[in-house]
Amino acid sequence: MPDPTLDIIVPIYNEQELLEELCTRLKNVCNELAPLRCRVIFVNDGSADQSWPMLVKQQEREPRFALINLSRNFGHQPALTAGMAYSDADASVIMDGDLQDPPELIPKLVQTWRDGAQVVLASRSSRTETGLRRIGFDLFHRFFSQISDFDIPANNGTFSLLDRRAMLHLKSLPERHRFLPGLRAWIGFEQREVLYDRDDRAAGQPKQTFKRLVTYAMDGVFSFSEKPLRMMTWAGLTISLVGFLIATVFVIKRLTGVEVAATGFTTLVTLTLFLGGIQLTALGLLGEYLGRTYDEVKRRPLFIVRETFGIQIRDPQCSSTHHTNSNDQSL
Ligand code: UDP
Ligand code: MG
Repeated sequence: MPDPTLDIIVPIYNEQELLEELCTRLKNVCNELAPLRCRVIFVNDGSADQSWPMLVKQQEREPRFALINLSRNFGHQPALTAGMAYSDADASVIMDGDLQDPPELIPKLVQTWRDGAQVVLASRSSRTETGLRRIGFDLFHRFFSQISDFDIPANNGTFSLLDRRAMLHLKSLPERHRFLPGLRAWIGFEQREVLYDRDDRAAGQPKQTFKRLVTYAMDGVFSFSEKPLRMMTWAGLTISLVGFLIATVFVIKRLTGVEVAATGFTTLVTLTLFLGGIQLTALGLLGEYLGRTYDEVKRRPLFIVRETFGIQIRDPQCSSTHHTNSNDQSL
């Protein structure tokens, strides 16, 4: 029987400062894992710096490296999805390329997989983010565990290993707004955790802007919970009931002549603004769901591959169409 294979999927966006170190450490890990046949799939997500030429140079010297070059910057989740689409190993590791996910943990993930787990989650026992980012992460995880329709473990980011079957199912989930920790929990299988200390970014600034992180968090909430909609329904019903009671009191007062003069201007203004606010918020919420639905039905590809090195370029969905040339591929 041939030795089992392992793919390590790493998205890269403007990581020139730490790319050399990343490649060296990944190579060392691959050597350590032999006779497991290791392949590292780098997905270049439209880097504007020297990352791509550096990757190409690395790949020329290292046959275990495969490169996927996307046609522009699509974002962290689409880049990961691109790597996963090309992975066909017995087990696949997905990890960030900023060395916050230490490659040296991979042998431990592999061992846990060999012990029978189908999904191995690398769980942070500590976090290095501080300040606003830290508070944001903490708040999000607490809020999210309250609101999501099923349990999604906190403290798991990208870093994980999936066996062939689990990966196949994760890949087959069709949605465009991808919240990986949620999707990974949703597919089930035998999941185990391996604890690790999350390192600081080895160099450079975080490549995910705060805005993207917020969108990502919202993707998590809106694709794993319908509670916001239900909460709005309940808020509406409660306000209607309270409104009805107050109206009754005023009508009775008026009819019995207790209060005749037109007073209550302040109350009126407050109520109008309050209700207006609630209505706009509800509309906005509806819009979030509607916008996402619209995005899903358009079925635009999640990423476009410009070229590949060390791995066959593929066209899984459009293989029957005749107008694609060998360098254009989409999923
Ligand atoms: N990344 C990417 N495309 C992007 C932004 C980031 O492929 O548009 C990559 C980045 O190079 C890194 C990983 O995704 O390997 C995680 O990014 P980052 O460290 O900035 O995210 P954070 O740690 O803030 O979640
Ligand atoms: Mg990072």
